[in-house]
Amino acid sequence: MSPSAAKAPKKEGKSTYKFPHDTKKYQNFIAGKWCDSSSGEVSENRNPANVTDLVGTFPRSTKEDVDRAVKSAKKAFAWWRLVPPPHRAKMFYRLVDIMQKNKEMYAFQMTREMGKPIFETRGDVQEGIDTALYACGEGYRMFGKTVPSELPSKFNMTTRFPIGVCGLVTPWNFPMAIPTWKMFPALMCGNTVVIKPAEITPLSVWNLLNAVLEAGFPPEVINVVFGAGSKVGNAIVEHPDTPVVSFTGSCAVGRKIGSLAAPKLKRVSMELGGKNCTLICNDANLDLAVDACIWAGFGTTGQRCTASSRVIVEEGVHDEFVEKFIKAAKKLKVGYGNDEGITMGPTVSEEQMKTDLEYIEIGKKDGATLAFGGKRLTGPEHKNGWFVQPTIFTDCKPKMRTSQEEIFGPVVSVIKVKNYDQAIEVANDIEFGLSSAVFTQDVNKAYRAFRDLETGLTYINSATIGAEAHMPFGGMKGTGNGHREGGWGAYEFYSETKACYVDWSGTLQRAQIDDIVPKKK
Ligand code: NAP
Ligand code: MG
Repeated sequence: MSPSAAKAPKKEGKSTYKFPHDTKKYQNFIAGKWCDSSSGEVSENRNPANVTDLVGTFPRSTKEDVDRAVKSAKKAFAWWRLVPPPHRAKMFYRLVDIMQKNKEMYAFQMTREMGKPIFETRGDVQEGIDTALYACGEGYRMFGKTVPSELPSKFNMTTRFPIGVCGLVTPWNFPMAIPTWKMFPALMCGNTVVIKPAEITPLSVWNLLNAVLEAGFPPEVINVVFGAGSKVGNAIVEHPDTPVVSFTGSCAVGRKIGSLAAPKLKRVSMELGGKNCTLICNDANLDLAVDACIWAGFGTTGQRCTASSRVIVEEGVHDEFVEKFIKAAKKLKVGYGNDEGITMGPTVSEEQMKTDLEYIEIGKKDGATLAFGGKRLTGPEHKNGWFVQPTIFTDCKPKMRTSQEEIFGPVVSVIKVKNYDQAIEVANDIEFGLSSAVFTQDVNKAYRAFRDLETGLTYINSATIGAEAHMPFGGMKGTGNGHREGGWGAYEFYSETKACYVDWSGTLQRAQIDDIVPKKK
């Protein structure tokens, strides 16, 4: 992937997928069968770059639909848990090929349903492929431990076992990658799943499901229930037979889910919001820092949990940075992401666009300087979509609402600081803790940032976005509850550690009580 949205190579700027835009009625997948919602209701999935383009209709499902899905997944768990992991790994190998073969089609459809440019949606699919590749390897690993016993003729070991039905609730900004982060390790560990994607981006999970089925996974192990969070998501979290819940989304919904799951003592992973910072030191490579701030500020139209919506700049390079940053932002080409050369898409919905525009007004009222952008785009190529200009505020104070709250749009606040100590202080003075970046040529400052920035991810001389699928992903503080997705951590979350003691001494040896040492011969 190009390090800079502004510099995305031209050949990557256009979809090569040749299918016509089609509209279809999609269904749930429950108990191994395609079916409508028991309510009979549907919701429309529309292209946010052109709302006259109807992508399809999807079921608005009910609690009863969730109940059927969980029942089926619970039944399937009884035997799926016993399938040897290397056998499951072979299904993932087939899945990698299928996803690779369909990558361009998935990317095209993802851009159509949620707006980010085609080079980004290709990356989203690739992240899913990488997550599948990692799962293949885990099928032959999932290491336990052997540990010496304190007693003779006794053997201690640990191993990992699946847990049961995993309820997965996912957001719209990474419509395929995030579902794979949850679904693949859950299935690889031997669990079964019920997933509810965001109602505004259901098609990418529908595509993923078809790939999983084509790869030969037994249909009953994966159930997809489309619909609203307040109904379907809520029912999955509350269901007594979903001992594992994995959620990615906003802090507000995360808190609700946490309070619903806590009395039932469920294992819950929560990946929530962010307000990530990029620190630019006086000795930074400024051109590189500008590229990174454009990519992290306006990539995915600023709608990434790891987006850098705060840029904290030492005063020695502040003015030069701002000048270069605005110049680069002007070059962004905003439009429908499947078209040639587009580097920033629409916001995902009218509601999100309104939120962005409201925050822009708040920033102005609170005394920040609107240095670039700030308006809705309404020209001929934008009039049917939810487009906002890339927007830069300068003269921002650290405690302004636009510097503290997650806007989830293409709005970046630049904060000037006197020195590096103050930069770290301002960076940490926030409720979130997902990602951070620092631009410096000084190895001491780089390591200090790694140690002191209160974020789950820190990038040295790179953008706040760009996590790799085999590395742990997640945040500190208000960004979550301490779990990590990606890499090996996910396998720990989706499995239970079991300790086993094998005593072949033929006597009752009591740990901590009998101090038995074999006699000298
Ligand atoms: P959201 O509004 O919290 O929704 C996330 C998911 O939860 C959707 O599927 C939603 O369903 C569902 N939901 C809503 N209310 C629910 C309830 N009461 N019970 C159960 N499920 C419910 O978040 P979003 O707008 O989709 O995504 C943006 C947010 O996600 C941002 O805050 C962003 O930072 C965060 N995010 C975090 C990460 C991370 O890894 N830390 C990654 C990506 C995004 P419907 O929307 O279909 O109703
Ligand atoms: Mg849509």
